[in-house]
Amino acid sequence: MSPRLILVLGDQLTPDLAALRAADRTRDVVVMAEVADEANYVKHHVKKIAFLFAAMRKFATGLEADGWRVAYGRLDDPDTSRSICGELMRRNSEFDAEGVIATECGEWRLRQALDDCPLTIETLPDDRFIATRAEFAAWAEGRKELRMEWFYRDMRRKTGLLMDGDDPAGGKWNFDHDNRKPADPDLFMPRPMRHEPDAITEEVLALVETRFPDHFGQLRPFHFATDTAGAKRAASKFMREALPRFGDFQDAMLEGERFLYHSVLSLYLNAGLLDSLDLCQQAETEWREGRAPLNAVEGFIRQIIGWREFVRGLYDLQGPDYTSRNHLNATRALPDFYWNADTDMACMKAAITQTIEEAYAHHIQRLMVTGNFALLAGIDPHEVHEWYLAVYADAYEWVEAPNTIGMSQFADGGVVGSKPYAASGAYVDRMSDHCAGCAYDVKRKSGEGACPFNPLYWDFLIRNRETLGKNARLGRIYANWDRMDGTKKDAARASAAAILGRLDAGGRI
Ligand SMILES: Cc1cc2nc3c(=O)[nH]c(=O)nc-3n(C[C@H](O)[C@H](O)[C@H](O)COP(=O)(O)OP(=O)(O)OC[C@H]3O[C@@H](n4cnc5c(N)ncnc54)[C@H](O)[C@@H]3O)c2cc1C
Ligand code: SF4
Repeated sequence: MSPRLILVLGDQLTPDLAALRAADRTRDVVVMAEVADEANYVKHHVKKIAFLFAAMRKFATGLEADGWRVAYGRLDDPDTSRSICGELMRRNSEFDAEGVIATECGEWRLRQALDDCPLTIETLPDDRFIATRAEFAAWAEGRKELRMEWFYRDMRRKTGLLMDGDDPAGGKWNFDHDNRKPADPDLFMPRPMRHEPDAITEEVLALVETRFPDHFGQLRPFHFATDTAGAKRAASKFMREALPRFGDFQDAMLEGERFLYHSVLSLYLNAGLLDSLDLCQQAETEWREGRAPLNAVEGFIRQIIGWREFVRGLYDLQGPDYTSRNHLNATRALPDFYWNADTDMACMKAAITQTIEEAYAHHIQRLMVTGNFALLAGIDPHEVHEWYLAVYADAYEWVEAPNTIGMSQFADGGVVGSKPYAASGAYVDRMSDHCAGCAYDVKRKSGEGACPFNPLYWDFLIRNRETLGKNARLGRIYANWDRMDGTKKDAARASAAAILGRLDAGGRI
């Protein structure tokens, strides 16, 4: 009997993937490939490419050890096709195959490419998520507003996580109120696990060094795990050392502390090396056995079964044009300092420098620093989206786009969030220690040396008043502006115009 081709993509590195479950290892051939089109459709961070190629090679080796026949296309093999469809066609001829079994891709772009591929492809739902697509669509049906909190409660009920019978453990669904503390420097701050590259990873690092010299980011040192065993060790270290304080300092930023109490597990979850429900159950055990407080564990679980599942559902529901939304008609080009960290703004410099070096920044840096600046400065949301998609090791469009286009840039007009996450310098000052060492003065509202976030904040709100003025959640803020002294208003707008003019001229900020 002819074999079927079993497609396993770079973010499907899960042994019980739907396509593998449907396959017969005595008959079928698993197809995996490092194709140039996937590595190049944006200039992905070199650490992200290396992580995925190394993890794919090890996953393929593991499948072979389990008795699978694997046809693996390496990037440096001249026969490997440039695209996933091309590679399937090549293997189809090689094995005289009888159709393809695939697991549904996360991104619209790839779904389209497989739809257009002239082979018979049976696509199975990706059941590595807690909510199925149909379940999310049913939940969303008929609702006037889609808010994460309501969806999250249903996911708690569905999984039984942190439930005492029908009630939320501790009597509350959400402990976010307790989770907004600034952090202090701590000599004993936990660090994410650092994995030393083995021979396979070293070989991939050398390949990436030569093949992607013009891509973003710094490749070495490279300390990501590249298999499930390593990712599980990283998760255990997080549970032991950082989870107990994850809640309290979830929104904090500290100069020189790149990870604080965050898990740095998103890249493993998104590639399929870790299972989201397992991870949440592990976190719940930490609370039930008295090793981590409820506010931390609830916060962590909410990010995964709440936000992660919610944005995935929205991405599917919003359709392939979501990334071209531009509700606020923002058109400015992304400044060069997003690529090279060459800025005097200490908070931006810290977030972008660690993005270059680590392919990682935590949520508040993405949302309230780099995202906030782009929002206030009116940067084209599609350019912002492409930046976020390129620079983080965990970036895939299904999770990145709702966070960028929706939550951070409000370019979807309020699908993900009910108001823009816009903030002046006071927010960064409250949640971090960056301002103390900054060339700008966070207390100055306008004029020479004023923190750029301050005048840009007001300028953003006034520039977009026609669109945002009716948003009930912004009413008090617009009322504050209306009460403000006329000279202060003029000074803020003049400062904003000077900063935006400098940005347009490519000047230093
Ligand atoms: C503009 C912007 C772009 C983003 N792009 C991505 C992206 O490409 N890929 C990605 O995985 N996350 C993205 N996020 C969400 C979030 O910032 C990252 O998931 C998180 O910083 C990953 O670091 P961590 O593993 O240490 O997370 P932790 O703070 O330890 O949180 C635990 C887990 O919760 C999940 N999570 C937390 N917040 C979110 C969220 N808002 N949406 C989805 N999952 C969440 C992640 O899986 C994460 O590993 C983005 C956020 C913003 C504001
Ligand atoms: S003063 Fe402004 S630019 Fe400087 S670190 Fe503070 S918030 Fe950032």
